[in-house]
Amino acid sequence: MAENNNHFDIIIIGSGPAGFTAAIYAVRGGATVALFGGVAPGGQLLYAAEIENFPGFPEPVAGAELMLRMLDQAKRLGVQVFQEDALKAGLKTAPFTILAGENKKYTAGAVIIATGARARWLGLPSERKYTGKGVSGCATCDGFFFRGKEVCVIGGGDTAAEDALFLAKFASKVYLVHRRDKLRACTRLQEKLGSNPKIEIIYDHVPQEILGGPALSGAEGEKATGIILKNVKTGAARQLDTPGVFIAIGHTPETAIFGDQLKLDDAGYIVADERRQTSIRGVYAAGDVMDPHYKQAVVAAGSGCVAAMEALKYLEEIKK
Ligand code: NAP
Repeated sequence: MAENNNHFDIIIIGSGPAGFTAAIYAVRGGATVALFGGVAPGGQLLYAAEIENFPGFPEPVAGAELMLRMLDQAKRLGVQVFQEDALKAGLKTAPFTILAGENKKYTAGAVIIATGARARWLGLPSERKYTGKGVSGCATCDGFFFRGKEVCVIGGGDTAAEDALFLAKFASKVYLVHRRDKLRACTRLQEKLGSNPKIEIIYDHVPQEILGGPALSGAEGEKATGIILKNVKTGAARQLDTPGVFIAIGHTPETAIFGDQLKLDDAGYIVADERRQTSIRGVYAAGDVMDPHYKQAVVAAGSGCVAAMEALKYLEEIKK
């Protein structure tokens, strides 16, 4: 398959397990492949401290390590990895166009979107005010700052459970605040939560407001000092004096640059069939951006594999 400087058989957008697996399969299938992976390739797994459910790693592996290995593997096989964001996509007619970096134009016969999903926020004004000042969406990134302090985690899914367990390594106490009376997290994580003496689960409560005040120890500005919760059954308010507030309430698919061109479902995920074909022929979606259910590295990787195999097949078909 032919290449000029800015044209590739397949362009992949996204550098999580879906993007890299798609790239590895596409390049091994004989295609010229560019992958736009952002400044720090690796996607959400960069923030996962330990992964113990990715096959092939008998000992837990850090997310960053796993992604570095995928990056190295893709590069070794000949994938051109651009550490730039894709800024615009023209998907209406083939060849498809991607603007990236400083508005440089790239074209491709097929595109695989593997942009993932970003963490969701509560939407409280006080949450925004104290983000980066005690309020965080990333326990792995910020947990260290709360050594010996009390923190709370909002959410009841696997991410919230994992965050609580991770934070318990540093914090003196971790409150896990969930809006229902039953966690969504898997049984194994629930068992771990139950056997950790530092973790207390508060059911049936939702955040009302993040509290803040002047930063201690000479630091500038204000910092979060706690949170006010409301009991959804009784309406009663409860205050937690936790300078660390970790939000872990799920994700929103990253579709900003494609959303108006592709069919999305009600939650904003790209609609793709079992062959990862989107509403535009030649454009495929793989991983969390089209998967509202599983959000697993290994599922995303499999999804990227399918997308690449189908994209290769499509390129062969249109050549005929
Ligand atoms: P999730 O499963 O969608 O859970 C989000 C949690 O936040 C739910 O408990 C939800 O409550 C709660 N929530 C949502 N909006 C809220 C709001 N506005 N206020 C308060 N609470 C709110 O998201 P996730 O935990 O990020 O997990 C996403 C996917 O990734 C899942 O499939 C999960 O299995 C997977 N995952 C797997 C692992 C692992 O295997 N190691 C690790 C992390 C994530 P409700 O329960 O009431 O809906």
